[in-house]
Amino acid sequence: MTMDYLTRPLTDLKGIGRARLATLEKAGLANVGDLLRRLPYRFEDRTSFRAIASLQAGEWATVRGTVAGVRTDYIRRGLSLTRVTLSDGGGSIQMRLWNQPYLAKTFVPGARFLIYGLVSDERGLHLSRPEWEPADDEGDPIHLGRVVPVHRGVGGLTPRVLRRLIFEALQGLPADLADPLPPELRGRDELPDLAWALRHGHFPDDVEEAERARRRLAFDELFIIQVGLALSRAGRAARSDGVRHRPEGPRLRAFLGALPYDLTAAQRRALDEIFGDMESPRQMSRLLQGDVGSGKTVVAAAALVKAAEGGFQAALLAPTEVLAEQHWRRLRELLGPADLAPAFLAGGTPRVERERLLSGLADGSVPVVVGTHALLEEDVRFARLGLVVVDEQHRFGVAQRASLREKGSHPDMLVMTATPIPRTLALTLYGDLDLTLIDELPPGRRQVVTRVVPLAQRERAYAWLHERVAGGGRAFIVCPLIEESEEKQAKAAARLHQELQVGWPDVPVGLLHGRLSTAAREEAMGAFRDGRLRALVATTVIEVGIDVPEATVMLIEGADRFGLAQLHQLRGRVGRGADQSYCLLVADPRTAEGQARLRAIASARDGFALAEEDLRLRGPGEFFGTRQHGLPDLHAADLVRDRGLLDLARSAAEAVVAADPSLARAEHGPLRAEVDRAFAGRPGAGTIG
Ligand code: ADP
Ligand code: MG
Repeated sequence: MTMDYLTRPLTDLKGIGRARLATLEKAGLANVGDLLRRLPYRFEDRTSFRAIASLQAGEWATVRGTVAGVRTDYIRRGLSLTRVTLSDGGGSIQMRLWNQPYLAKTFVPGARFLIYGLVSDERGLHLSRPEWEPADDEGDPIHLGRVVPVHRGVGGLTPRVLRRLIFEALQGLPADLADPLPPELRGRDELPDLAWALRHGHFPDDVEEAERARRRLAFDELFIIQVGLALSRAGRAARSDGVRHRPEGPRLRAFLGALPYDLTAAQRRALDEIFGDMESPRQMSRLLQGDVGSGKTVVAAAALVKAAEGGFQAALLAPTEVLAEQHWRRLRELLGPADLAPAFLAGGTPRVERERLLSGLADGSVPVVVGTHALLEEDVRFARLGLVVVDEQHRFGVAQRASLREKGSHPDMLVMTATPIPRTLALTLYGDLDLTLIDELPPGRRQVVTRVVPLAQRERAYAWLHERVAGGGRAFIVCPLIEESEEKQAKAAARLHQELQVGWPDVPVGLLHGRLSTAAREEAMGAFRDGRLRALVATTVIEVGIDVPEATVMLIEGADRFGLAQLHQLRGRVGRGADQSYCLLVADPRTAEGQARLRAIASARDGFALAEEDLRLRGPGEFFGTRQHGLPDLHAADLVRDRGLLDLARSAAEAVVAADPSLARAEHGPLRAEVDRAFAGRPGAGTIG
């Protein structure tokens, strides 16, 4: 069997020697297919040739002319100017080339050339920054006389060099190119032929063609990811070696009976789905999504209780120590009626305590543990780990989820996201998980009135805030986000706290940040909760988990520094009681995008709508890279623009995997190879078993 063209090594191409190979490999290009699937980021229309006599200064133009004369002047040491005069019969123009005297050998009088350049007028009309190509060469021109691709440079390789390499590679495309798409998808209108797409993605006749080609190649990328994820889901569904948790028992009844409210319909639906998974012998891998304040914690808590009910251990993993501690504190309260006392493990846990805890986890006497990455360490062993809940805030990747899963024999896994994820991203980044959505807030919640406060009105905003807290209200004041260090952030908070204590002698103001001791934090929170403190100056420590229904005002300093999702999380700390709540965003955003983002948060109430907006404004790269999630990079596809394609890719992937769960059929050979390659070295996804 001849080797499939796209998987051939780059060295098979004309023009690739050792140095270029090393550059390309460093950029992650391993074979001909990789090179061809990396599309240009823009095109230049160099199709129409202009009459030289009609050229105007300031325009980019393509001309065809004959060399009428060439001369090189040595202006001084190390500086030469070669002037080439071109004529097309109707007129002539000069091309000026600095320090390239050897080009006199190329531009011999009488030779015909195609030239693209900027028409400049400086001591006479001439073409500057020229690109050229001989006009009498056999075959089509590459760089001129067509719509020309402009690729991002790779290492030291210029767009011109890449264009030529790709052109060469396309010359060799065989008619019977192996296509990773299964036959049933080929021939669909939106999915043109692979060879056509590769050719026209680089060298189209017009931009519409280029876009049609890009979409086909984008589909391939999305489809391969979706097939990998579908394989992983199917592999899980086919196995029945998971933990089988027992149906309802006295602990769960006590837990539910002690809740001070009724669960919402959405919470009950979520519990049904989760419990269904837990009771089945299949291993659960589920994503629990819900807007801020929708009540995910209590759902997770119920799952922890259920696991402990049947004698299994359960762990909850949070991305930071502060968050882990907050969860631990809330769970201590929630799990009390079920007669369960959760343990806590973080990097800062004292050694003696840690050792005691580790032996409790290893002998099974500790039923529930809450912690950070510290739980992932190798010496943390469980006797009967049956459930892992990950509160992930986008911070754990596929690989880390997998490593925790390996600590038990196939424990059930529930991933909670505190921030809604746009559907397109969820399907891509969490496509290996089943989805549960809590799409309803507890009753009685009112929309938080949100206002953007320009710096010029900051004083007025504080005066208004003072009036509210002096009259009995409770307020959060959030300090600007200082990313470099928690320490600086703590200092800024302390400074603001001091200013307010001086400025508001009649109102007790507290301080809360990550640098305070646990006891000091607990004291501040407790005093704020029971009303001894009326205002709390805080860092983003309060982002998650803080729950004081009497707090009705939040002022956020430097609001433009926060991401939309984070602002939404912060704002979710107010509006939890029956009274009207307010959120003031203090900022003078400089960019139009910054203004648009603050407008978006001011008008949106739904976290999902906001997340979509964030994705649209910042792009998926900003939102979070796919690589850190253990998924292949996207080159042609764009998760914002290609939603329709993603849906198609997902359903097509499901159909293919349903029909051929291990892609064993011959017609799926090229697909199998691409999926294996895309997910190579990325545990937890795209693998069967
Ligand atoms: P999330 O983590 O989804 O943002 P939380 O779990 O923090 O939300 O819950 C938000 C608040 O709503 C908490 O004060 C919680 O006690 C309360 N809560 C949760 N479920 C209900 C419910 N069904 N009815 C009333 N209040 C609820
Ligand atoms: Mg929460």
